[in-house]
Amino acid sequence: MSLVQRFASPIDLHTHSRVSDGTESPHDLVRAAKEAGLGTVALTDHDSVEGWAEASASAREQRITFVPGMELSTRVGRTSVHMLAYLFDPADAALRDETRRIREARRTRAENMVARIGRDYDFHWEDVLAQSAVGTTLGRPHIADALVARGHAISRQDAFAGILSFRHGYYEPHYAPDPVTGVRMIRAAGGVPVIAHPATRGIDSVVDEDGLKELIDAGLAGLEIDHPENRPDGMVRLRELAAKYDLIVTGSSDYHGTGKVNRLGECTTAPHELQRIIEQATGIAPVYPD
Ligand code: AMP
Ligand code: ZN
Ligand code: FE
Ligand code: FE
Repeated sequence: MSLVQRFASPIDLHTHSRVSDGTESPHDLVRAAKEAGLGTVALTDHDSVEGWAEASASAREQRITFVPGMELSTRVGRTSVHMLAYLFDPADAALRDETRRIREARRTRAENMVARIGRDYDFHWEDVLAQSAVGTTLGRPHIADALVARGHAISRQDAFAGILSFRHGYYEPHYAPDPVTGVRMIRAAGGVPVIAHPATRGIDSVVDEDGLKELIDAGLAGLEIDHPENRPDGMVRLRELAAKYDLIVTGSSDYHGTGKVNRLGECTTAPHELQRIIEQATGIAPVYPD
């Protein structure tokens, strides 16, 4: 039997604050979500739950439903696979340890990239520190902001297309668990795993059907199909697979404040799909306005 639905629409289940590579505090992000007319918003910073407390308090003030989440970095070979995780227990030791390991690897990787860039450009680690708060999950966006501040790029977009791209020789990957391990860890922590933006490469989704079946066996719950960067041909294919395997289908903006063009609520999730996420979660509950 279905629980009473206590959240309001529209529903946006993928956003980033300054705790990772967004540009607003968790407090301001939730306020922006309310101003954008959303009834429910999730915060899904990369590899961190540090923004949850502030976002929860802001959501109570704003009378908007808050869904605590995270975007866990995983990787198969050279392919990075982002795994959204909802409503897991933030005290789960295995997941806490793993995300700490990823954040540390991201920092070392950023230091290495900055050192390589510094051989060719006037560019220093302090430039990156000036663009990121203490404890932030460091990523290429912070390096991009520092490149912009130094005048080596005109925007994050420009930095990603140039100096930070795979082709330019400064890029390096960072440690991340494989997606099956990631899915198992999220479930073990009581959370609900959903593959983020699986169709950014179109029909060549980040997972083929065999890979998807393996992830479903490990506990995968859903696919983020409505996403500004998913390509239409891939979305059609993923909708077929979601129906075939009875997966949850989400839609979200992947808002990063001024760090990306994505606008809050530009893609949204149907209420019955969020209801399924809440029913599957055994970690924690959303923060409701009443
Ligand atoms: P990283 O995980 O450190 O390699 O950085 C990837 C992050 O950069 C992702 O979370 C994206 O949201 C962000 N990103 C990727 N491409 C761009 C872009 N062209 N402009 C702004 N942000 C981007
Ligand atoms: Zn990001
Ligand atoms: Fe992502
Ligand atoms: Fe994201």
